[in-house]
Amino acid sequence: MLGRGSLSMKKIYLDHGATTPVSSEVLDAMIDIYKQEAGNPSSVHQFGRSAKKHLEAARVKVANAIGADPKEIIFTGSGTEADNMAVIGTARLKAKQGKGKHIITSSIEHHAVLDTCKALAKEGFEITYLPVDEFGVVSAADVREALRPDTILVTIMHANNEVGTIQPIAEIGQILKEHQAVFHTDAVQTVGKVPVDVNELQVDMLTVSAHKIYGPKGVGALYMRKGIRIEPLMYGGGQERKIRPSTENLAGIVGFAVAIEKAVEELAVEKQRLETLRDKLIDDILQTIPETKLNGHPTERLPHNANVSFEYIEGESLILSLDMKGIAVSSGSACTSGSLDPSHVLMAMGLSHQTAHGSLRMTLGKATTEEDIDYVVSVLKDVAARLREMSPVWEQRNK
Ligand code: PLP
Repeated sequence: MLGRGSLSMKKIYLDHGATTPVSSEVLDAMIDIYKQEAGNPSSVHQFGRSAKKHLEAARVKVANAIGADPKEIIFTGSGTEADNMAVIGTARLKAKQGKGKHIITSSIEHHAVLDTCKALAKEGFEITYLPVDEFGVVSAADVREALRPDTILVTIMHANNEVGTIQPIAEIGQILKEHQAVFHTDAVQTVGKVPVDVNELQVDMLTVSAHKIYGPKGVGALYMRKGIRIEPLMYGGGQERKIRPSTENLAGIVGFAVAIEKAVEELAVEKQRLETLRDKLIDDILQTIPETKLNGHPTERLPHNANVSFEYIEGESLILSLDMKGIAVSSGSACTSGSLDPSHVLMAMGLSHQTAHGSLRMTLGKATTEEDIDYVVSVLKDVAARLREMSPVWEQRNK
């Protein structure tokens, strides 16, 4: 099992920001659907009606988890798809209505938003990429200043997936109340980790993904406030109010609903537990390993995220050395696995190439224990010392 010791080597999974294992409750609920529900929710006969009942019950659970009305939930095939629908769907509709072609986003968005904006720029949309401060925070005042009469969409993520910084979404939402621009937030990293309420955040659209909260991969949702319209990206059947046609992934959607309900139910206790472990991990690393630095905001950060730079070490070498010791973490330095480009997030925060390259993201989860943290820190201490011993730059550093 992830996060637990195995027969041969202790295995510790600290990459919950990438994905989480499917929980047993989720798996059981999905198996029940596969075994018992043969119908298509769009069919009028009893098999279809029964499937539809599960689909709509799942919609209620997802809506309740974020303070929405069930009619405002559109199920999608992933968080990426929901982001694309929100950004492209809004842009195309508003442009057609002659409302404008200007979009505001941040320079630290997930590629599901960033690359979508880049694609729209090729279609003639104008994109403003807002900067962030040293902690990775987008300024609400910058959003206000960037707004123009022809701004049609503002899309700013709720929390960053690499450094964990939580953005002032409610404050930005307040500013946008008086403006025509639609406000979208990518909440893939926050739902189930910190309280998320669409009315408190004052957003028009919000993206969720199931696999970050112990649900299945390949399922997500887009919250669309009543009255908000988008151009669909696909055409076909009448499912999901024709906004996202195709026969629903019923088992996946039911699994998603169980996962989100459970995550919200356990949130208060689990958030505090994770924060305590996260702070111990950060403090122990910073205190015992020289020339290390926390990336992201010290307090306004995801409860399970620790992102640390190790000077004079390549992040990739650290990951591989930790992997050999059974510890799974990810690099803050590569946006895509295999890429040697430094992280666009760390660069936007003003880190040097070298520091950005020596960064690790450790994301904790349900199975993480205090013992795991002690083990990870002791391995990191050894590995960092060994890698630095082999580095000519480390020797030269104070000369
Ligand atoms: N947005 C953020 C902030 C993410 O962290 C991720 C996943 O890494 C996504 C979007 C994409 O979600 P999915 O994997 O469901 O497509």
